[in-house]
Amino acid sequence: MTLGICLPSSFSISPIPKTKGSITSSSIHRCFCRINSYDFVVVNKTNKKKLKPCKNYFLYSNSCDVKIPAAQIGAAELEDSTTKSGFKNLVWPSPDDEIPFWRREFPTWDVNSDDSVNAEKDSDLLHIVHATAEMAPIAKVGGLGDVVTGLARACITRGHKVDVMLPFYECIQRQHINNLVLISTYASYFNGDWIPTNAYRGEVSGISVIFIEPSNHFFKGQSVYGGSYNELEAYLFFSRACLEWMQVTGTQPDIIHVHEWQTGALPLLYWDMYQDLSLKKPRIVLTIHNMEHYGECSQEQLSKCGLDGSVYATEDKAVDDRTIGHNPERLSLLKGGIVYSNAVVTVSPTYLKETLCSGWLASTLLRNRDKYSGILNGIDSAMWNPATDVFLPAKFDAENFQGKNVCKHFVQRGLGLALEGTSSGSDRVPLVVCVTRLVAQKGLHLITHAIHRVDELVSSPSLSLSLHVRWLVVMVSHHLNKLYLDAACNPIRGTDVLIDVSIINAGGQMVVLGRAPDGRVQREFENLANLYNQGSGIRILLMYSEELSHMLYAAADMVLVPSMYEPCGLAQMIGMRYGAIPVVRKTGGLADTVFDIDQGSQPELANGFVFEGIDQGSLNWALDRAFSSYREKPNEWATTLQKVMKVDNSWNKTAGQYIDLYNTLRVKW
Ligand code: ADP
Repeated sequence: MTLGICLPSSFSISPIPKTKGSITSSSIHRCFCRINSYDFVVVNKTNKKKLKPCKNYFLYSNSCDVKIPAAQIGAAELEDSTTKSGFKNLVWPSPDDEIPFWRREFPTWDVNSDDSVNAEKDSDLLHIVHATAEMAPIAKVGGLGDVVTGLARACITRGHKVDVMLPFYECIQRQHINNLVLISTYASYFNGDWIPTNAYRGEVSGISVIFIEPSNHFFKGQSVYGGSYNELEAYLFFSRACLEWMQVTGTQPDIIHVHEWQTGALPLLYWDMYQDLSLKKPRIVLTIHNMEHYGECSQEQLSKCGLDGSVYATEDKAVDDRTIGHNPERLSLLKGGIVYSNAVVTVSPTYLKETLCSGWLASTLLRNRDKYSGILNGIDSAMWNPATDVFLPAKFDAENFQGKNVCKHFVQRGLGLALEGTSSGSDRVPLVVCVTRLVAQKGLHLITHAIHRVDELVSSPSLSLSLHVRWLVVMVSHHLNKLYLDAACNPIRGTDVLIDVSIINAGGQMVVLGRAPDGRVQREFENLANLYNQGSGIRILLMYSEELSHMLYAAADMVLVPSMYEPCGLAQMIGMRYGAIPVVRKTGGLADTVFDIDQGSQPELANGFVFEGIDQGSLNWALDRAFSSYREKPNEWATTLQKVMKVDNSWNKTAGQYIDLYNTLRVKW
């Protein structure tokens, strides 16, 4: 029995021989029948009768199975269009590539060429030192790294002097640091010892970075967090080592900007120790990026950095309110940081309100209300710029987004996802991406549900049974894995059936890029990946990849952020800049940056699809609206896409609020 398929000659056909009775590509080429454009037609060899042409992807016979990966279909068209549009040197990826497309060599990431270099300089210039556990891109785990780098660069652009102090994690790739030099060797106290410590200076993305490298085991390991050392103690050491370095080098910045619990002890050390030494000038700003991580600590542990831990075990200082009356009571470095900093900022106005109303830090924040404010995070407009992004196979901007289609096809091909048809309208396949840490905060149950939903979102298929065809042909759209599996498992012997599902058009594709620090969650997602990654509509990629994240945002039609709570959220902002319409839950910074297209009272702000509940129905409501809008209103979609790409969520817009705050605190000498 022979299958007849004819495709444009430029197609390469790779039957997947894993299925039973595999068929070779040469036997395919021998077959008949030319069809319009890039569709394929199946012909019954006996009666020469053509079966319906369609743009579907899987083809099965009851005696031999062949699967034509969708990635092959449409290749010629893409090559053609990319050649015409100047992307002719593009090397199209495939899932079989030895080196996955996101691990290819990329040109140097030169983010110094900021598109805001012409921004006006401030007149009264400050020296700001950030003490932080993360910095993008060299030591980034989530948004904290992005924020430190983006804010620092925006301040530098305005003329200020900025240094970032960062642990010299063993996992930092030194080739990403320019002009790295050892600048001081000193000793910093920890647990009764003075630990020999090196301070290096280097340049990362145009920012001066001081790397603190203790000679003990702290910060060793293959990742930023989760090393085999005691993390809390390592950051207590780091907090003091930053101040000690300033002390020994006579460095007195105007502002020391600390972040999260990891550097929460620094304000305590500053006011209760280093002010009595020679550091007098700096004032301290604490930014809380996420109240969930409060740096739980015993009095004894705090004492290891040279403070008397028992002094802080009071309600108005650093005692963890949840442990009051327990034996022993615990401390919270985050709470101590709030009490001892000159100003406390959180990362969006809505999260500010939420944190004053709920959570165990609410009473501390209320007591410190006069110094507590909400400043919306931004994104770095040079690091996240689809017009210059070195990781993208094709660049684009709001005026010309042809390159976005290339990025989408590139990612689809590289991940082995089905390619959509050539015409616009009903065969458009929306690609949803979700780039996230896989932790409860991010709405894991909704991410899982979205995967099922995107996979299942189909309009009622029309099934036409046509008997007396010699072989079983099951043509299914990529999202109909279930139908395909059923048909493949239950071939109706002796009866040939054509299931024509060519009108199926409401499915979508989804790519999740995420890493789960919790083993149980990791396993759950591995199971999902095993279930879905064989099909051609869903990819669950359990890893961290900065490069792939850029490509996914560029490829995406929608970016999904279904968080249970979200202090600010950068994914929706990055998505918008890359022409992906956000589908988000209304909470924290998501509520401050995404406004529903169908519901909003201010249509000029409308830029996404928003839902409020934490249940599946609420998510469906937003996702379904996004899908139907994508398919049924392509022109409106394009207008919205253009609009969201122009929304200014950059630090250039909000860094000024930090500068104003720094100025209210600075002490003139
Ligand atoms: P959070 O800080 O809570 O992790 P944000 O949305 O504020 O969330 O920032 C997340 C940042 O981390 C974004 O830049 C996002 O692209 C990036 N990110 C998250 N997970 C991954 C991953 N697995 N691979 C690459 N980048 C990731």
